[in-house]
Amino acid sequence: MENYVARQARPPIFKLAPYVPGKPIEEVQRELGLTDVIKMASNENPLGPSPMAKDAISQHLDDMHIYPDSNYFELRKKLAAKLNLTSDCIVTGNGSDEVLKMLAEAFINSGEEVIVPRPTFSEYEFVATIMGASCIKVPLQGNDYDLDSMLERVTSRTKAVFICNPNNPTGTMVREEDLRAFSRRLPDEVLLVVDEAYGEYVQSADFVSAQTLLCERPQTIVLRTFSKLYGLAALRLGYGISSPEVIAALERVREPFNVNSLAQYAGMAALDDVEHIAQSLENNRAGKAFLYEKLNALGLKYAPSEANFIFVDVDRDAGEVFRGMLNKGVIIRNCQSFGCATAIRVTIGTPEQNQRFINALQSVLQETEG
Ligand SMILES: *Cc1c(COP(=O)(O)O)cnc(C)c1O
Repeated sequence: MENYVARQARPPIFKLAPYVPGKPIEEVQRELGLTDVIKMASNENPLGPSPMAKDAISQHLDDMHIYPDSNYFELRKKLAAKLNLTSDCIVTGNGSDEVLKMLAEAFINSGEEVIVPRPTFSEYEFVATIMGASCIKVPLQGNDYDLDSMLERVTSRTKAVFICNPNNPTGTMVREEDLRAFSRRLPDEVLLVVDEAYGEYVQSADFVSAQTLLCERPQTIVLRTFSKLYGLAALRLGYGISSPEVIAALERVREPFNVNSLAQYAGMAALDDVEHIAQSLENNRAGKAFLYEKLNALGLKYAPSEANFIFVDVDRDAGEVFRGMLNKGVIIRNCQSFGCATAIRVTIGTPEQNQRFINALQSVLQETEG
């Protein structure tokens, strides 16, 4: 058995480091002996899940011994109606993370390249690396996408380009006209993947879903999730939107029962819960305005956010700020894991959470060297 894994495992896996998630509340309570801990680290909905989704789940608890519908007929039908598409344009996943993995398994060969921005969500690099592909990272310019430089990096080895819109962790977005121009200039052989995990939160009129590119560019895939606005992160439910040809390719690699039935019922109910959606959006809008005002007063720079989080430059070691906040029971994201030495990312919370975050940040800034 000596060195067995080193000899026998696929070489690309040694390039992977395990995902660094936001710290769970229970872990912080245990490690620091704190009782009152809040998490503003993983962009979850601070208002909790949709009440209608909770109802739907409790109505189906007695069916847990039955395998889920493997074709997700009702869920896909409902999504298709909402999106004004046919069901064969939709694939569902155990979180949109799974859809990312499916598209990598279906399309990416060893030795190929994918292009991503930097910083961005780490899953794109992860799924490409698993397949043995390499990941070209194109730095943002300030906090905005450098789409020209991304195009310049396209070669005959390029299989896919990933755009996270709005981008995690910066919260910034690609404008409609820039997205359209980019998609026209991108060679036909390259798959365009647009992750709109935060698309529902966008307030700017210059935003458009990449779904509108599909008729012109069928080799585009849009990712959406129930983990953020709909408040169902624990259930794991996401979906991809593309042309029937691309969806059929993803269906080939999809596990038969990848989305559990409770997630399906909850997802359908959450789509109908207009009140929960409206409250969540309003809480986000008001919380963002509040945090902007307080961050301005603290003299901190931040990126204008179209999402449910804010990327803040704390102008000192982000790890120190992260640990200082943790000691005060406020979990935020240290963006050093994204390669940003002095940035944190904070999820917009309830009014009480936002106030507590600001109070904690103010004292941590006084305790640490700027
Ligand atoms: C949170 C998030 C997702 C959602 O992932 P799920 O697997 O659906 O929970 C996808 N993309 C980005 C950029 C995210 O931040």
